[in-house]
Amino acid sequence: MYLLEKAPAKINLSLDVLYKRPDEFHEVEMVMTTIDLADRIELIVLHEDRIEIKSENRFVPNDERNLAYRAAKLLKDTFSIKKGVRIYIEKQIPVAAGLAGGSSDAAATLRGLNKLWSLNLTTKELAELGAQIGSDVSFCVYDSTALAKGRGEQVIELPPPPACWVVLAKPAIGVSTQTVYQNLNLENVPHPRTKNMVQAILNQHYQGICDHVGNVLESVTLRLYPEVKQIKEHMEQSGADAVLMSGSGPTVFALVQHESRAQRMYNSLKGFCEEVYMVRMLGYPQSLD
Ligand code: ATP
Repeated sequence: MYLLEKAPAKINLSLDVLYKRPDEFHEVEMVMTTIDLADRIELIVLHEDRIEIKSENRFVPNDERNLAYRAAKLLKDTFSIKKGVRIYIEKQIPVAAGLAGGSSDAAATLRGLNKLWSLNLTTKELAELGAQIGSDVSFCVYDSTALAKGRGEQVIELPPPPACWVVLAKPAIGVSTQTVYQNLNLENVPHPRTKNMVQAILNQHYQGICDHVGNVLESVTLRLYPEVKQIKEHMEQSGADAVLMSGSGPTVFALVQHESRAQRMYNSLKGFCEEVYMVRMLGYPQSLD
């Protein structure tokens, strides 16, 4: 038995950090949506009781550190499953980019094994399990558009945003999420207006979405990594409708409605940045079949 599952990248349309909690996690409010840049997860049932994992990408661990492996292990342990699975990850999403690639692979593994192992869990139940793997996994299980609260695990679904092009560029640097949070000073940063973003999505108001993109973590990453700032400025000068950094970075994305303008921006970014993508906004589940 065999199944393919699509694991799309997410972007943050807004990301706010409210305060640091006594348990050391940060209380956040994030509006996230999926884009048509996806890993492909292949799941094959094994009758032997083991988990095998493989990906050709040299930055992705081929062992129990892989979040997809952890997702399979969690289901096996929780439901005492004696069958095994071979997981093959065809990686398209850049690694450690702020696009939740690992979380999306874990979420796709949860969705796929729920079907393959006939567990009949609801999306909500899968998302609750996913929170044990990582804060973004719950959102990724829904595979849609949502407001995420708490440490990211409280997911309130929203309709998909109006269609547009998303141009993404990832400078060739590594950004440590931990360092970004450590350098964050919540007193002196402009906070995004999450409510306005949610309202713009509910109203299907593209300009309203563009007006309210915001990421409180930009205050740190743009200061520490001038490459990220340079890409952001380039996109702003190239006629983007909105530009924002996703997650803690370093990927920056532009929203663009006109295809020809998005194509021009893509071509000019390619001149000085190796990893550039031009994809459609998604915001709703899409199967591979
Ligand atoms: P987020 O946006 O949720 O902070 P990210 O996009 O910044 O995530 P990932 O691509 O998920 O980061 O990878 C972060 C680290 O997780 C990698 O350096 C890698 O070692 C590890 N990892 C574990 N499993 C995976 C996976 N399936 N795909 C990619 N990275 C993985």
